[in-house]
Amino acid sequence: MRKEELFKEIESRLPSNAEIGDYAFEGANIVLYTENKDFFLKGDDVIRKIVDAIKKRVKLRADESLLLDPEKTEEFIRNLIPKEAELTNIWFDLKRSLVIIEAKKPGLAIGRGGENIQRIKRATFWTPKVRRSPAVKSDIINAIRHMLYKNSDYRRKFMHKVGERIYSDWTRDERYYVRASFLGAAREVGRSALLLQTPESRVLIDCGINVASKEEPYPRLDVPEMDIKHLDAVIITHSHLDHSGFVPFLFKYGYRGPVYLTEPTRDIMTLLLIDYVDICQREGKKLIYSVKDIEEMVKHTLPLEYEVVTDITPDIRLTLHNAGHILGSSMVHLNVGDGYHNILYTGDLKYGDTKLLQRAETEFHRVETLIIESTYGGKKDIQPNREECERFLLQIIKETTERGGKVLIPVLGVGRSQEIIMILDEMIRKGELDLPIYLDGIVWDVTAIHTAYLDYMNERTKSLVFERGYNPFLSPHLRRVGSQKERMKVIEEEGPCVILATSGMLVGGPSVEYLRHLADNPKNSLIFVSYQGEGSLGRIIQRGAREVPLETFEGKSILLKINLEVYSIEGFSGHSDRRQLMKFVEDLTPRPRRVIIVHGENSKCLDLASSIHKAFRVETSAPRNLDALRLR
Ligand SMILES: [Zn+2]
Repeated sequence: MRKEELFKEIESRLPSNAEIGDYAFEGANIVLYTENKDFFLKGDDVIRKIVDAIKKRVKLRADESLLLDPEKTEEFIRNLIPKEAELTNIWFDLKRSLVIIEAKKPGLAIGRGGENIQRIKRATFWTPKVRRSPAVKSDIINAIRHMLYKNSDYRRKFMHKVGERIYSDWTRDERYYVRASFLGAAREVGRSALLLQTPESRVLIDCGINVASKEEPYPRLDVPEMDIKHLDAVIITHSHLDHSGFVPFLFKYGYRGPVYLTEPTRDIMTLLLIDYVDICQREGKKLIYSVKDIEEMVKHTLPLEYEVVTDITPDIRLTLHNAGHILGSSMVHLNVGDGYHNILYTGDLKYGDTKLLQRAETEFHRVETLIIESTYGGKKDIQPNREECERFLLQIIKETTERGGKVLIPVLGVGRSQEIIMILDEMIRKGELDLPIYLDGIVWDVTAIHTAYLDYMNERTKSLVFERGYNPFLSPHLRRVGSQKERMKVIEEEGPCVILATSGMLVGGPSVEYLRHLADNPKNSLIFVSYQGEGSLGRIIQRGAREVPLETFEGKSILLKINLEVYSIEGFSGHSDRRQLMKFVEDLTPRPRRVIIVHGENSKCLDLASSIHKAFRVETSAPRNLDALRLR
């Protein structure tokens, strides 16, 4: 629907006392700012009817002129909300008439039947939004929210501009097409990037870097069809750097459009990006973008919830669905050309239950093209049973600590680290283990973010926290390591323990620091629990190297002797194994007409493509980087 028609439709349904001073888009949502106090307080029914009629999300807020002074509003809120709600922060989004109330117990802040919300509206005319504050303090969440609300004026204008673009005119004629260009992660793992084009729109899905590759770390944005400044939207499936690490680069080169993702993805990805810049700086590597570009990115994020359909361009509708991979990870469903073609892009996918998350969704309204990952898509990629893996992990930890050694587990900051924390916490609760678990730097910070987004976790975890009042991320066994000094203390002074540190592939970061000091002692153990990229130090050690080159801080090359015990446990993976990938395609309803395989090494892409073709009689392909396919 065009903007003019839309406003006409809305106006025709408004009563005479609505006194709408201003219409604003917030992306695809429409906000009406009323100058009439009575309509603000009693207009909900009218708005509900409008939403039903035009099938767009419409919100009613008070015009700036009605708002009580922020200081007095804050005072009112602080007096109203009960102590037990544990209020932590109050933010004002000045230009959008919103007050964001953060509390550790959001239910108590809202009050029975939302009574506190109503009281705040009646007394102050601000529209309150209650959010869960993290149970563990998170500086990054604070910094991100500060950034968003400080730039209220800019954000309001930016979101309006996005809406104007979404509601601009378009038509579908016989020349209409849907075309995908594979700019990274085709027949490889890392630097995911896929450009989707129609005659009307250009959308980029994921924009990652390959941290393990020295030769080709970045996606191929140099293709002729790619024009950073004229992209309509960027969609990020999840926070891992191989899917998100190149986004600030787009902002460095002039992109000012929206970035769609979930809230946990926004927070964790920002943290990982800042950490990445930090590590590059410390290790004297060339910076491809700066913290300023990351901030610019944050200002342009538009978070979405799972299962909520949103227009992102005149001819593309986006819905994010749980992918089961890490906190906030999404599969991307696109309805292109008003039902002309439907695409499901899985991103990284776990079709199996984990300690923390529910398995990926399989029921969709329509899917004609499925684009699926294949990290473990080879015939032999069968992950062992999870319980066996847990027993094996327990055994390694016990044997190592009983002989006085330390256990180093290199992890990506997000994903396996929290899964391992959950597993170890369960062992500790059962009395099978009793030892400190050190979370180095970013692992701790990411875990803190997890405590703000419990709603994204599976039922089991939610009931553990909400009903039984036990939060595994607040376990007293978890200890934070925040500096090099503390790191050395853990290495030199502490006894047997488990250390979780980034990077997961031993390419820079604290895990390499620990390895340097722990490697020569045969009492210690190194356990790989996640994918080790081709060319990474992790992969080299995993393959059995007992002497590896390492660069010191001073840039000197040394040879490190690997005397500690090395294990790999693949059963904790956040990726589906071969059987789960096949089962996902089998269970996917409706069955797609075409399956495109990406995000796997060459042989795995080809293997999975041929197996899916044989099993389900659908067209499959495994494009190469720089290939473009017409989807319809
Ligand atoms: Zn991932």
